[in-house]
Amino acid sequence: MQPRSEKMGLDPEKLRELLAQQLEEQEPTPAQPEASATQGEGTTTAEGANFHFDLKPEQLEAHLDQYVIKQHEAKAILATKICTHFNRLNLPPEEEEIVGNIKNNVLMIGPTGVGKTYLIRLIARKLGVPFVKGDATKFSETGYVGGDVEDLVRELVRDADGDIERAQCGIIYIDEIDKIASSRGVNGPDVSRSGVQRNLLKLMEETDVDLKAPHDIASQMESVMQMQQTGKVERQKINTRNILFIVSGAFSGLDEIVARRLNKGSMGFRANADAAIEQIEGDQLLARARAEDLIEYGFESEFIGRLPVIAVLHDLEADDLCQILRNPKSDVILSKKRDFRAYGIEVEFTDEALALLAERAYGEHIGARGLVSAIEKVLINYEKKLPSVDIDHFAVDADTVLDPATGLAHLLQDTSLRNFREGFRREHDINLVVTPAAAVRIEELAAERGLEPRALCEEIFSDYGHGLKLAGLGEFRIGPEVVNDPQETLNSLIKSYYSERD
Ligand code: ADP
Repeated sequence: MQPRSEKMGLDPEKLRELLAQQLEEQEPTPAQPEASATQGEGTTTAEGANFHFDLKPEQLEAHLDQYVIKQHEAKAILATKICTHFNRLNLPPEEEEIVGNIKNNVLMIGPTGVGKTYLIRLIARKLGVPFVKGDATKFSETGYVGGDVEDLVRELVRDADGDIERAQCGIIYIDEIDKIASSRGVNGPDVSRSGVQRNLLKLMEETDVDLKAPHDIASQMESVMQMQQTGKVERQKINTRNILFIVSGAFSGLDEIVARRLNKGSMGFRANADAAIEQIEGDQLLARARAEDLIEYGFESEFIGRLPVIAVLHDLEADDLCQILRNPKSDVILSKKRDFRAYGIEVEFTDEALALLAERAYGEHIGARGLVSAIEKVLINYEKKLPSVDIDHFAVDADTVLDPATGLAHLLQDTSLRNFREGFRREHDINLVVTPAAAVRIEELAAERGLEPRALCEEIFSDYGHGLKLAGLGEFRIGPEVVNDPQETLNSLIKSYYSERD
């Protein structure tokens, strides 16, 4: 996320100074209207933003169950906390005036490709609220080198088509949050990462974000011009009080911190407890993570304090991946089908093919993300070739997955042969039946001559339309012997027809 000002080679610092100067001059004028879109601090309600939330946690959970395989605890936690957050927005503002209002922000812990983003996207879509996803590694403390955490809030406005009220009820999802844990080296904690945490903390609590980014040269120039022309600047603000923050990361090494703490705790009664703790590993340790572990991991206690809910997502096994593919709502398969449908081609997958694809994806160790690449690897050439031939459906079976090139060659040949037969029927009103052995022979001869089966057939059977009509046939069976000697076959056919008539 490089600031536009930098890309343009202009000095954003100068521009900011200029604008600050102009704003300072503007300050003493009492009648200065500050066109803030917020209706007073943090008073956006669901009603104000034109939303009405009436979903119950169990309804949302049931919705997620239709799409997301496994991850039962995460689905339950997210459905509950997110529903509660949005239903709270239905309350009139005065009931919300609790000092130190605690939001239902959630921390998700889990490896890549296990459904973290998918869950949040599904929820945002079901609730109909604006949603943005950001990556914590892109932010720097000052915001001028990398992106600015506040950019996420501005993007939310973009996702809400410029409607600030709606954006103020949106969801911001930040992945790779573990990358802003400060590593405590010899020189003390990593200051810049702690700085990013503090910036995020401000957003997660409550703050007003300027709609115009300080590092966005275009909007700053607009402001300067507006100031010069009208003597005032329209400053629209987005209040983050009701924006829900979900953060996530893989947190590698956190399990060891949890294990150490659990081991320490068991010192007093070693024998049984130690044995029990040794049994716990990986995900199960992460499920026991507490605030103190995350602080040891490198987070500020205030930051962790704003993430009161933790949901752990688990690794997906090959069987889970297969279930994802078999789910008729699976976006992986649906989106591949849509790719082909764009060319008028329907594609089906057999169960064996799905199981093989899941096995392959599992071997890549990137969770369900491996599914997309496994499918792409098999079908990329099909997607290139099939749109140019006359085909409206095909099936991906185990053979296709095991040997996509041969599968494609057969499919193209079958299609080519079918096209020949259909063309022949249209032109001569005669049905040709090609035996499987004849089809193989046609393929061989076509390959030898570097022709498509259709072109070969059009050549060797060029007299057949006329000849079969003379023989008075409405249907003709092509076996391998016909392919081997088409002219002789046709001659003897006509001869025997006439000799029978005499
Ligand atoms: P991450 O956990 O890294 O955020 P995603 O949620 O983006 O991973 O997963 C990538 C894709 O894999 C999703 O769009 C979805 O199609 C599929 N997927 C991942 N996990 C699941 C799951 N548990 N159930 C169903 N589909 C899943």
